[in-house]
Amino acid sequence: MIQFKEVGLTYPNGFQGLKDVNVTIEQGEYVAVIGLSGAGKSTFIRCVNRMNEITEGELIVQGQNVPTLNKKEVRQMRRSIGMVFQSFNLITRATVLKNVLVSFVPDLPVWRKVFGIFTKEEKMKALEALDRVGILDKAFVRVDQLSGGQQQRVALARTLAQEPSIILADEPVASLDPVTAKAVMDDFRTFNKELNMTVIMNIHHVELALEYASRVIGIRAGEVVYDGPASDVNEAV
Ligand code: ADP
Ligand code: ADP
Repeated sequence: MIQFKEVGLTYPNGFQGLKDVNVTIEQGEYVAVIGLSGAGKSTFIRCVNRMNEITEGELIVQGQNVPTLNKKEVRQMRRSIGMVFQSFNLITRATVLKNVLVSFVPDLPVWRKVFGIFTKEEKMKALEALDRVGILDKAFVRVDQLSGGQQQRVALARTLAQEPSIILADEPVASLDPVTAKAVMDDFRTFNKELNMTVIMNIHHVELALEYASRVIGIRAGEVVYDGPASDVNEAV
């Protein structure tokens, strides 16, 4: 469970990014966060894994009070929270398999990363994740040889191999063509339904949000202006 209680966030320059946010998200929900560019969608989801620090209120994630965690505890918490970005954040000159491997093995020593030394179990897990998102045949291809949609699938496989209970996705389909975007949205739906992962996704594309998410949170100028089922979204946002 994720609980925002009267959360406020003021950036160091004095800009108020979030104001009085009260939101509770249960395990297994599929939440789309919608709003105009600059509304505060990224600010909101980045609080969950403490990429952003809240400055007011309380934030509980899986029973832990996020602002009070020390560095080690934050690292531990982030293992159970996957993150997917608009820009994929992949090592483009490495193979697909290596991209998945280097990111999900906890506390991977640098020498193992550099020499590409992984156990059979680690490789199996990475290959299974690639299979699940339908790009197993690309395992040994370099990332820069892939299309945008395929690259986002690599990013998804990487997150999946981490076996998170929560996935935070920041505009994951914004740079994809409409058909590929839907395919990637389908992948998220599968993770949500079959693996009971909580999905919290920023998406400025309202129609896609309504089609795929079960709950929509609308943000405007740092405030939650809508929170309810996708079927009831109106002009509120
Ligand atoms: P969205 O994801 O909805 O496009 P963001 O959460 O990225 O919006 O940004 C919300 C607002 O907060 C914007 O006006 C942005 O300029 C501002 N903002 C984001 N990060 C910072 C920061 N580090 N310092 C000051 N202002 C910021
Ligand atoms: P995106 O829209 O893809 O989320 P942004 O360009 O909004 O990316 O933000 C990129 C980075 O710059 C983020 O780390 C964000 O916190 C920071 N940032 C955004 N707006 C501001 C701002 N007004 N002042 C300082 N940092 C900002």
